[in-house]
Amino acid sequence: MPKDRYYDGLTATAHRVTVTPLGGTLIIATDENPQLAHWQTADMRVIDDNKVTGAINFGRVSDPAPRLVLHDSPARTTLLANTPHLKEWKSRAAKRGWSVGLAWTLAGLVIATGFYFAWRDGSAYLARFVPKTWEQKLGAHIYAALNKNLTICRTPAGNTALRKLVDRLAPPELQRDATKQQDGITVDVVDIKLPNAFALPGDHIMVTSGLIDLATSPDMVSGVVAHEIGHLDLRHPTQSAISNLGISATVSIILGGSSVGDIATLLTVMSYSRKMEHEADIRGLELLKAAGLRADGMAEFFKVMKDKFDKDADSIIPDWLQSHPGLKDRADYTKAEATGTTAMTDAEWQSLKDVCKVK
Ligand SMILES: [Zn+2]
Repeated sequence: MPKDRYYDGLTATAHRVTVTPLGGTLIIATDENPQLAHWQTADMRVIDDNKVTGAINFGRVSDPAPRLVLHDSPARTTLLANTPHLKEWKSRAAKRGWSVGLAWTLAGLVIATGFYFAWRDGSAYLARFVPKTWEQKLGAHIYAALNKNLTICRTPAGNTALRKLVDRLAPPELQRDATKQQDGITVDVVDIKLPNAFALPGDHIMVTSGLIDLATSPDMVSGVVAHEIGHLDLRHPTQSAISNLGISATVSIILGGSSVGDIATLLTVMSYSRKMEHEADIRGLELLKAAGLRADGMAEFFKVMKDKFDKDADSIIPDWLQSHPGLKDRADYTKAEATGTTAMTDAEWQSLKDVCKVK
């Protein structure tokens, strides 16, 4: 029985839940309902904590009624680590031994930073030697766990349109090729309101319905998809697994070790560094140009995202966007001529827009 609890604010029922933080969205699940609620982490606030149990009570800014009580767990650690405004509250609460602790913290930081940079560059080097079959196993675990908690939208026409786009953009090493036993890239649309996209190990891409809703042209979607293929082409998921989980944990997960079930830990694999985001933008632009597709959609998409968060005074910029290179910078350095073919026909674009609307 999960220890964490969710109160919907309407009834007194305490739902026993498990939570999964996924790129700015917190998926709240019970055994009976794997999608009880989706909370945007930027919308979350800390109400207080329980000094005895160590549990933290969370609420939402936009709707103060529901409550979420989370005990210490890998999922909560990941949530706090990826959500600076929640983490700050926690560090304010822990003031003890501050001045003595500070010297040690600084000393530790100097050493850790040195290791971290050496380790991060090392992981880029190591990733090149990790066999593709290992990465596929790691990806299969993540995919299976996410599949349980997410609605994947499927319509024949919508999926075909997206599939065709991916096939056009993918470099030869990532193409489907039965003779070389290459499965190619799989792509899904998941029903999540927050605009986002993910590159999972094992050459999976997920695009949220929120992103497709926000995009005003298929070229914006192709810009985002090209960016995600850029991550895959540069082996970023494996690099990130090695630098965030360490080699031994990565290997034990791949070999089916005990920590496999912990999806929150697995998802840290997908937190990419600023450097990786920049590399994926540049690689994505190259892929768009190589495919003869219009490459101006990527910069357009960053602009639309920036406008959305600038204009809407109530909306807080999601933390996952703050940790990326700034949206304005990205819109500037990805600016490209509007030459080339548009990514989809009108009919294909409409079918992709409708992919989550048909139930
Ligand atoms: Zn990215």
